[in-house]
Amino acid sequence: MTDQSKTSASHSAWMDEQYFTASLHEADAEIAALADSEMERQRNSIELIASENFVSRAVLDALGSVFCNKTVVGYPGRRFHAGAHEADALERLAVSRACAAFGSRFANVQPHSGIQANLAVFRALVRPDQTVLSLSGAEGGHFSHGGAANLSGSMAKAVYYHTDSNGLIDYDALEALAREHQPRMIVTGGAAYPREIDYPRLRAIADLSGALLMADIAHFAGLVVARCTADPFPHCDIVTTTTYKSLRGTRGGIILTNDEKIAEALEKATSPGVQGSPLLHAIAGKAVCLGEALRPSFAAYGRAVLANARALASELQAGGTAVLTGGTDTPLVIADLRQRGLKGQPMVEALDRAGITCNRCEIPGDDTDPAMTSGLRFGVSAATTRGLGTAEMIMIARAINRLLEAAQAGGDLGPLEAQIAGESRAMMADFPLYKALA
Ligand SMILES: *Cc1c(COP(=O)(O)O)cnc(C)c1O
Repeated sequence: MTDQSKTSASHSAWMDEQYFTASLHEADAEIAALADSEMERQRNSIELIASENFVSRAVLDALGSVFCNKTVVGYPGRRFHAGAHEADALERLAVSRACAAFGSRFANVQPHSGIQANLAVFRALVRPDQTVLSLSGAEGGHFSHGGAANLSGSMAKAVYYHTDSNGLIDYDALEALAREHQPRMIVTGGAAYPREIDYPRLRAIADLSGALLMADIAHFAGLVVARCTADPFPHCDIVTTTTYKSLRGTRGGIILTNDEKIAEALEKATSPGVQGSPLLHAIAGKAVCLGEALRPSFAAYGRAVLANARALASELQAGGTAVLTGGTDTPLVIADLRQRGLKGQPMVEALDRAGITCNRCEIPGDDTDPAMTSGLRFGVSAATTRGLGTAEMIMIARAINRLLEAAQAGGDLGPLEAQIAGESRAMMADFPLYKALA
């Protein structure tokens, strides 16, 4: 007979009794305290960082699910590891929801992030001696589109196209570049381009040299799903996106295509090409957020994001702050501080002390240190999720204008920052966040 007491004693000798039962708060006070104060920070401030959003409670639960324990390598039905029945069903659901949301035939939901998705595309489809035309970084592009600082920069020869004096993509000049360089791929989309993209025009330019057309829709993917902006399909060969900006889900990336050969090449290029086993808990989070994005309420969210971004842009301008391109067709609003004689980074810090979070942003022709810049980038996806509407956007734009004006006038900003911080906190008190988790 087995000695039960002896078994359980030796068990607890190597394993903390509460290993499977203690919550984070019970098990690790240090990390729990940080999570609590981060919750307070998120709750009390006006979130205008364009690459942020608030996931639903359901997505949060999916991220904390036991899928985080499972290792699988490969794709559904063709895994290296056993026990993948549920993982396969999960990934298949995520894929079918992604295809339904974006209207594509194929989706790869494994990329750990937006950049991993882009690296997989470069690995699958371009060679280091081939040219890729990308939007210049200072004009709204993204460094993972062939930028020297990123691995993608050694996977292709990047040639940059530009925006015109109105801040819009100069399609004529891009066409001339395409004729000159005969690119293998043209990349559109970026981190700070606030206007709708003319995909039919880009397709025609790509066809001049038989180039592939890739759109990185990270910032406005939610608006694509909500049908509030032009659809990259059927014009693009490949579409990449992050899932955590306007798509309102967990951190991660997705690659979409209608071309079976490209889809196959992207499988290997993603894993084992640029990563190994997928983060299944993140795939669970992606599946849940895509399910949310397929509901009719998400179309209303998309419209609200766009209305909020436009309200913020027009009130900033009404109060004397220049906005790139004079407005927006996306969640993004790019403020140009040059007329006010201000730099981006000090104003990011002042706004942060005033309870409004955003980031600095290079603007076309910016000759300031990239650690300073002359611009501010705002995004309204997160604030819209909290429930803020155009009335709040107008109040926020006025607060930003007050602070920028005061900075322009010179002197101590401290009292005004404190006053606006109080107003920000009071505004956000009306828009609860994760009530049940408090
Ligand atoms: C945010 C963003 C990315 C980066 O994604 P990570 O998840 O940080 O790797 C890639 N492309 C564009 C256009 C982005 O805006």
